[in-house]
Order: sequence, then C-alpha cells, then structure tokens
Amino acid sequence: MADLDAAVSDCFACPRLVRWREEVARTRRAAFRDQEYWGRPVPGFGVPDARIAILGLAPAAHGGNRTGRIFTGDRSGDVLFAALHRAGLANQPTSVAADDGLTLRDLRVFSAVRCAPPDNKPTPGERDTCAPWLHREVALIRPTLRVVVALGAFAWASWWPVLRQVYGVRPPSPRPAFGHGAHWSGTGAPELLGCYHVSQQNTFTGRLTPEMLDDVFAQAKQSAGVD
Ligand code: SF4
Repeated sequence: MADLDAAVSDCFACPRLVRWREEVARTRRAAFRDQEYWGRPVPGFGVPDARIAILGLAPAAHGGNRTGRIFTGDRSGDVLFAALHRAGLANQPTSVAADDGLTLRDLRVFSAVRCAPPDNKPTPGERDTCAPWLHREVALIRPTLRVVVALGAFAWASWWPVLRQVYGVRPPSPRPAFGHGAHWSGTGAPELLGCYHVSQQNTFTGRLTPEMLDDVFAQAKQSAGVD
C-alpha cells in the first residue's frame, strides 16, 4: 500500500488537473498564504486491512490538495471525521493536517479521482484515466473489504467498473440509481451503500444531517461485522 500511495502521488497523467492542482498550490487561498500546499495527487488514507471503505469524488482544492490527505483541512472533512469518530472508526473528531495524529480503525478512505478538479468536476476522460489507481487500491484491500460507502452520485457510478476490473463480477444492469440510503449487494463483491456527499452544499442546507451520517455508518459497521 505504501508503494501504491507513493506511486499515485507522482502521477501526471491528466494535463488539465496537473495544471489546476499546481496553480491552486501556487496562488493559495488568503487564509493559507503562509502554508506550503501539497499540490499533487492525494492517496487514500487508512488501514490496509479495512473492512469498510469510503469512496469520495476528488480532493478539494484547499483541503486535500493543500494538506496532502484526503478530506483533511476543509469543512467536508470536519463533518465526515466527526461522524467517523462518533462511529468509533476514527480516533479523533477532527482532520486538519497530515501530521495531526488521526488514525482510522477498520476503514480506508479514498476518492475516484485523485487530483483536485476545477469546480469539483472531473471530466469523464479524467475519471477513466484515474480509475486504475482506485482499482489497484481496492485490489489491495479486497481480502478484508466488506462494505463500500459511496459519497454522492459520482462515487456511486465510479464503483461499477471496480466490480468488473477487481472482482470479475458483471455490474448490475440497469445500474441501481444513486440515492441516500441506496443499497446494492451481489455475490462475490462488497456491499455498496449510498450516502449524500459531505459537501457544504448538503450539510449547510440540512440535506445531509449528522444523524443521517450516523445511520449510514451504523449500517456499514453492521454489514461489515465491525463492533
Ligand atoms: S487525476 Fe488521477 S490519473 Fe489524473 S493526474 Fe491525478 S492521479 Fe493521475
């Protein structure tokens, strides 16, 4: 896993995203002007024998792209890791910097696209170019992985190619629609749970509440056999 993390951190395959991640790192947000941005692809985070995985969309320009750790240093991460701490899957409720002491239990967190995209919108071509990184990471945790929580429709859609590439399982047709609380299970592959993304758009408006997140992670733990 360490080799994979190092390799993805050194990827330059998407010209538009490479330009964007480096430009953001150069110009910086005023509040972080004195910080050195990561400005590179953001690897997954968590244990290599995870029974639960959380699949997000892509790193945030001033979150993961700044700190070098997924969902770290932005409001989305604040909401996510507070919930994971309540669920007993994280040792602390905050995730502010790569060296803040955060550790996860039975959990790996990663994104479908590993570089911060403009407007949080990767192109279909960028999604497909980045997919092998996700597939390689899932292949590594496959022996223990039981449940995947997809945060948002993009992550949900990114899971189906994993079934074929990593598990040799034909994706369901038609594909089950994404929704909060959506659920898919099939033989020979982890269970898939849908959860609204922890974006500010959802959490500030009350579309996604802490209680809703608690319910999803309780279900994930139960399905994965995590205490
Ligand atoms: S998005 Fe993925 S494939 Fe594209 S440059 Fe970043 S790490 Fe590489």
